[in-house]
Amino acid sequence: MDARRRGIGGSAAVMTAGRIEGHRRKRMSRATAAIDSVLIVDDDPILCALAEVFFAGRGATQIRSALNGRDALDILLSAQKPIDFVLCDLKMPEMDGLQFLRHLKENDYTGQLAVLSGEHEQMRKTARRLADAYDLKLIGTLQKPFDNHALERLIREAEAATAGYGDDAVAVSEDDLRLALEHRDILPFYQPKVDAATQALIGVEALARWRHPDYGTIGPNVFIPIAERSGLIQNVTQCMVRHSIADLARWRRSGVDPKIALNLSPRSLNWLELPDELACGIDAAALERDRFAFEITESKLLEQNARTVEILARLRMLGFELSIDDFGTGYSNIDSLRAFPFTELKIDRSFVQNARTDPFAMSCIEACVKLARNLGLRVVAEGVETAEDLACVSSAGADEVQGFYIAKPMPAEDFLAWSLAARGKRLTA
Ligand code: C2E
Ligand code: CA
Ligand code: CA
Repeated sequence: MDARRRGIGGSAAVMTAGRIEGHRRKRMSRATAAIDSVLIVDDDPILCALAEVFFAGRGATQIRSALNGRDALDILLSAQKPIDFVLCDLKMPEMDGLQFLRHLKENDYTGQLAVLSGEHEQMRKTARRLADAYDLKLIGTLQKPFDNHALERLIREAEAATAGYGDDAVAVSEDDLRLALEHRDILPFYQPKVDAATQALIGVEALARWRHPDYGTIGPNVFIPIAERSGLIQNVTQCMVRHSIADLARWRRSGVDPKIALNLSPRSLNWLELPDELACGIDAAALERDRFAFEITESKLLEQNARTVEILARLRMLGFELSIDDFGTGYSNIDSLRAFPFTELKIDRSFVQNARTDPFAMSCIEACVKLARNLGLRVVAEGVETAEDLACVSSAGADEVQGFYIAKPMPAEDFLAWSLAARGKRLTA
């Protein structure tokens, strides 16, 4: 550890939340405090105080604040117990937030991070990219002033992403995953995609879940990275396709016939046999290929190498739909749109959820819709959580919507019941 750096960090800058100690203790018994140890980094002491009250209210027991990155680093390095959560400003004296992110990386910080800044959206976006590049667990960025509801929403989202199966709580190995795949314990939960204007069901997105004997339902954020690292990602895709073929055949017998979208890892786009494998499976079940779409997230490594181009072009030529996922979060979106034969564009939920309050996010959605129209692509807005989100994306011209406001991802049987009930509601409305 750097003794000089520790020496600079004056304790004057560190405001331990002593005055809220009693309040905190009272609430601890009923709080579900996954976040126990917090570090707030902001040169505005009032903001620090507000954030301290917020985290105390959620049951955190160790809350410390620093007025710049350098003091924050001192706290981080000297903390008795690892910090669970850092809330960080960008513009600060001595060491700014961007420099502090680098130090978080260098000091192997593994907790969560949220950025709260008065800077323009563009700067927050840059911070997000930087955090991604450093592999930090950034749960989101927020615009100042401090809004406890917005921060709560971010934290809840992050909790929902790993609900019941927090990365730390689940210990699964590559061998466990291989066994689960053999037993077909990796299966899809389905989330409806509906018409933005009429809310009629159009399709579903199949999202992978692991039904685990000890842990219950495990989400993809836990096992997709294992599958990608170990080369099992192909098996995950095959397992998901097999389940969804069977589910679609069953739903059809009840008169429910959605399109099905499956996620493809960018790593699968190296596997030249993929298009024929998929076509064979779907043909063998006597289903139409154009009922199936493949979503490819653009954010990480949609490399425009020859293999990727061949695989995507062949998937399209074989009659599948192709969707570009998380649009707006990647590095070369426009290029990708030109290079690959997409049929659908999914606007990332970070734009959708900010559209109501952030004119920049709304303009981005409108620009995406315009671009998609010119290229003849359908537009899906994902992460629609409220009636206001729905109104914003509809007015911007999205064709379809998906999100918790419509329905959460659910098992195949529940989806059938949901779609029959939704159809009944529309008929009687
Ligand atoms: P994605 O493709 O962007 O999927 C959307 C994620 O957003 C899903 O998380 C879904 O549950 C969540 N979501 C949907 N609506 C809302 C909303 O209104 N608000 C919020 N906060 N979240 C919403 P999930 O199921 O945990 O999936 C996470 C990611 O895992 C997916 O992101 C996808 O990239 C990946 N994934 C899922 N299934 C597969 C799969 O079969 N293969 C591959 N390669 N990746 C998969
Ligand atoms: Ca997707
Ligand atoms: Ca997405």
